Amino acid sequence: MHRILIKNGVIIPMDGKSRTIENKALLIEDNRIAAIDSTEILAEKHSIDQTIDAGGKVVMPGIVNCHAHQGWTSLVRGIAEDMTVEDYVFRLTEPLIEHVVTDEDMQCFAYLDCVEMLKFGNTCISEFETFSDDTASAIMESGIRGVLGVNMTDADWDFSDPNALPNYSPDLMKTNLDKAIKFYDTWHGKNNDRISVRFSNNIPLLCSPEFLTETKKLAKERGIGVNTHINTESFEVEAYQQMYQKVGVEFLSDIDYLDENTNLVHLIYTQDREIDIIKETNAYMIHCPYEMGKRGACAPLGKMYAAGLNIALGSDWLMLDPFEQMRYAAVLARIDSGDALLNKAYDFLEMFTIKAAKALDLDDKIGSLEIGKLADIILVDFDQPHIVPMNSHYDPVTNLVYNVHGSDVSMVIIDGEVVVENGKVKTIDEKKAMQEANLRSEAVFNKFKSLDH
Ligand SMILES: [Zn+2]
Repeated sequence: MHRILIKNGVIIPMDGKSRTIENKALLIEDNRIAAIDSTEILAEKHSIDQTIDAGGKVVMPGIVNCHAHQGWTSLVRGIAEDMTVEDYVFRLTEPLIEHVVTDEDMQCFAYLDCVEMLKFGNTCISEFETFSDDTASAIMESGIRGVLGVNMTDADWDFSDPNALPNYSPDLMKTNLDKAIKFYDTWHGKNNDRISVRFSNNIPLLCSPEFLTETKKLAKERGIGVNTHINTESFEVEAYQQMYQKVGVEFLSDIDYLDENTNLVHLIYTQDREIDIIKETNAYMIHCPYEMGKRGACAPLGKMYAAGLNIALGSDWLMLDPFEQMRYAAVLARIDSGDALLNKAYDFLEMFTIKAAKALDLDDKIGSLEIGKLADIILVDFDQPHIVPMNSHYDPVTNLVYNVHGSDVSMVIIDGEVVVENGKVKTIDEKKAMQEANLRSEAVFNKFKSLDH
C-alpha cells in the first residue's frame, strides 16, 4: 500500500459543513482518502511513503468541471472570442469539422487543453464532443478524470442557412447510436474507472423526438446519464415553438428525457415555465458563466437560484480557469438579480466541487474530502501577493472564489496519483504539446482560409 501524507495545509473539505480544518493532516492510502487527523498521530500509526508539506497552501477537492470541449479551447482561442454565435457555429466550427480538422489534429489540441485543465486544478471534466478514440486517448493519458460522451445528432441540417429547420434522418440516428454504444463499450470504466461515459445529444433541435427517447432509454439501461445543450441561442427557442408549439424544456419533459441524471447545458433563453419543470424533474442546469456573458445574454439566474434548481458549473470551450469562472458566476447572478448577497463564496465553490460531482452522479466518489472517497485533491498556494494577508481573520473560501487564479494551483492529485507538481504537469510534455499545437494550428487555418466559404 502506498501512503501519502499532506501536512500543514488548511483543509477545505466541502463536506456540506461550510468549515475549514486547520492543524490536521490528510492521509491518502493508494487512491483513497484514508484519514484526516493530527500529523503526529498519522505519522506514528502508519509508514508514510511520501510527505507533502502544504504550509501556506489550501488543500481542497479537485475542481469538477461539468462542461468542456477538449481540443476546441486551444484550437479557436484568440480567434472566436469576438464572434457572434451564428458566425462561430456556421462560419467557423462547422466548416472546420466538415472540411479541415482531422482526428489527429483534435488529439493534438486535446493534449494542450488537458495540460491547461490540469494546471488550473480541474481534476474531472465532463465532455461531449464528436469524439474519436484519439481524443479520448489524450484525455486518458493526461490522467484527468473524464466523463465523456459522443455528441450525437440525427439532423441533416443545412448549415449554410441558419433559418432552415432540420430534417431528421433515421440512417444518421442509427449510425450515431451505434457509434455512441461502441464508444461506451470501449471507454466506460477505463483507466481504473477514471474514464466513464454518458450519452449526449448535441441540442434537442438537432435530434428527432424518437432519437432523444432512444438515447435516454439506452442510457437508463446502462445506468448512465445524458447531456444536451439547450436554450443556448434565441433561434433555438423560436424553433421549438414552431415545431412543437411549446418551450424546449417542456418538450424534453413530455418525452420523459428529464430526471436527476439529465444535464441541461447553458439554459440562457429560459422561461419561467421551464424553470418550474427543471425543478420538478430534478434535472441539472450546467451553467457556463463566462460563455453566457460573452454572448451578451444572461439567463434568469435570480429566479433559477431562488427556485432552488440543481446548478453546477462548467467552462465550455472558453477559459479553463475555474476560479475566474466562479467570479463570472457571482457577477452574472448579481447583475441579473440586483442582489449582492444572492449567493456567497461557499455556494459557488460547491457548484464546482460537490454539487458538480452530484450532477455527474459521482458524488459518492469525488467532490469533497471525506474518508473513503477517491483522492482527487488540489493544493492552492496562498503565499501570493494577490492573496496575502492570510491569517485567522480571513476566510480562505472567500479568497478562493474572489482572489485566486488557476495559476496558483501548485499540486494536483487524481486517484491518488500526483499529476501536477510545483505547477508542472507530469503526465504530458507541456513544451511539446505547445509546439505541436502551434504547428498544427498554422496548417489548419491555412487550409481553412483556402476554403471557399
Ligand atoms: Zn458545449
